[in-house]
Amino acid sequence: MRRAIYPGSFDPVTNGHLDIIERGCKLFDEIIIAILVHPDKQPLFTVNERREILEEVLPEIKSRDCALRVDSFQGLLIKYAVEQQADAIVRGIRAISDYEYELQMTLMNRRQEPRIETVFMMAAEAYSYVSSRLVKEVYDLGGTIEGLVPPSVEERMREKFRKG
Ligand code: ADP
Repeated sequence: MRRAIYPGSFDPVTNGHLDIIERGCKLFDEIIIAILVHPDKQPLFTVNERREILEEVLPEIKSRDCALRVDSFQGLLIKYAVEQQADAIVRGIRAISDYEYELQMTLMNRRQEPRIETVFMMAAEAYSYVSSRLVKEVYDLGGTIEGLVPPSVEERMREKFRKG
């Protein structure tokens, strides 16, 4: 049984994230999509909303025999990964800028817990420029995000920005 943790803010989940999960499913028997709770960052969606959105869209991806679970965690990722008895941490790489940060984090995590490997997956060409931050910014300024996030996320964004 190979279990991986896919950590992130997922504020909100994008098609780029879902592509990583779908492809990660070919490598692992279980992926825990772990929402990072950041006490000092103001997110657009609450942790509960992010969890709800993920649970709504995950059934749409081709996960074959791979079990997908949504969870949230606070504090040190590597501690959480050990608690969950994970074999690996999955991360997506979009650009060199991701690489530099990820390399630093991976080496630090390896130092804390050498048994847990970090597996990197290259972003799909179509989504390599997509980030949750950019999606929110573009949407807020009146741009289109169609095709970059699942339709239900678009709908949630519409509601969120309408409420202000
Ligand atoms: P973001 O960096 O967009 O705020 P997260 O913190 O939720 O998103 O990212 C979680 C993980 O998913 C990170 O490893 C990040 O590099 C990866 N990721 C985010 N967006 C994409 C994308 N469009 N394609 C591939 N991987 C991505």
